[in-house]
Amino acid sequence: MDALRHIPQVSKLLQDFKDYPQELAKRAIREVLEQVRKEIREGRRKSLEDLKDLIERRIKELFSTSLRRVINATGVVINTNLGRSPLAREVADFIREIAIGYSNLEYDLEKGGRGSRLSHVEGLLKDLTGAEGVHVVNNNAGAVYLVLNTLAFGKEVVVSRGELVEIGGSFRIPDIMRASGARLVEVGTTNRTRLSDYERAISSETVLLMKVHRSNFYMEGFVEEVQPEDLLRLGLPLYYDMGSGSLLNLRELGIRTQEPSFVEGIKRGIHILSGSGDKLLGGPQAGIILGKREFIEKIKKNPMSRALRIDKLTLAGLEMTLRLYIRGDYEKIPTLRMLLQKPEEIKRRALRLSRKLRSLEGFEIRLVREVSRCGGGALPELSLETYCLGLRHKGLSPVELEKKLRNSDPSIIARIKDDMVLLDMRTVEDRDLTDILKALKLLEV
Ligand SMILES: *Cc1c(COP(=O)(O)O)cnc(C)c1O
Repeated sequence: MDALRHIPQVSKLLQDFKDYPQELAKRAIREVLEQVRKEIREGRRKSLEDLKDLIERRIKELFSTSLRRVINATGVVINTNLGRSPLAREVADFIREIAIGYSNLEYDLEKGGRGSRLSHVEGLLKDLTGAEGVHVVNNNAGAVYLVLNTLAFGKEVVVSRGELVEIGGSFRIPDIMRASGARLVEVGTTNRTRLSDYERAISSETVLLMKVHRSNFYMEGFVEEVQPEDLLRLGLPLYYDMGSGSLLNLRELGIRTQEPSFVEGIKRGIHILSGSGDKLLGGPQAGIILGKREFIEKIKKNPMSRALRIDKLTLAGLEMTLRLYIRGDYEKIPTLRMLLQKPEEIKRRALRLSRKLRSLEGFEIRLVREVSRCGGGALPELSLETYCLGLRHKGLSPVELEKKLRNSDPSIIARIKDDMVLLDMRTVEDRDLTDILKALKLLEV
């Protein structure tokens, strides 16, 4: 308790931080002193030795941005907490170019008059998917709302009980349905829904059948669902919320998955499809709506389209991402590259890092074969073979080590398994390796 009396006054401490903006320094000092007093009272602190270091660190924290780069060593490729899909370098460069100047966002350069912001991606999406109509909004949750609000306000929409999913971040199909003004009619059971269930549920009030992709879970066993082809035979418009918005048939690229793609959906004749821009598509956050012209035109005219419209930076990112697809440059799209990586490639990167770390004192480092997940509401059934570096530290428990890595600059986000901190090399990029080395060097004993 003696230490309490020796805590210097704020004004006194402030003199040591004259080079910083004084308001910021004052705030940092107050916060640190409050924390230090609490620690002393709780018997967790005796000395004031590190007071100035703590204040300096706090000032620096207050100075730096809140949003910052982190190293994703979780192996979860579309990591919702860590920002879902990272963008290709070319895409980011293009966003920058559009961001810092003026652009022809809504200006038709040929006519010299007003143009449409969607014109920049409409043609590309039609070419890539074969869709007649294209609309793009802020995100897929917005897209689902807009489709239902436009086509089914005050009317009934039939959905299988097995597809009433929750996506996380409070997005649940029954809730968004209610918010859109459409009336949900549930059919079938959790695990089995048949065509006859839909048939029986259809009334004069039914205007739409809806299918929702089970993007973050999968069912095995006694399961039955109705394929879009069969639903189309019932003669009502069919809307398929595909969730992950894949532009490619991933099976053709060697990924064993049931994940539906936009191209397949259009080919099957589904009237309206929607999906995210920043899941499997690997672009910026966006809600992509594709389908038959008559429906898409109606959806575009909904006044809520304006409220949900796509921002110009997102649009720039989406255009350039789609151009990478047109060129067949899939390797440049980080999400696809990380998913399609061969285990041997990941192993090679793991070994490269482990060689760099060999001389570190105080660490035990091992190559560990593991599985990683796609995450972010896509490919839930898939376990991807991966390689991790497993770390143990002489002086720190795995929990402490994980925390130290999380608090390093840049943060390294890892997972703990079997008493080891695992750095999953699937999602660690080459440019991250030096930062990891730097962070671990600071923890040498
Ligand atoms: C992810 C997802 C959504 C929400 O998409 P956002 O782009 O996150 O708004 C909606 N439906 C399904 C099936 C999803 O997987």
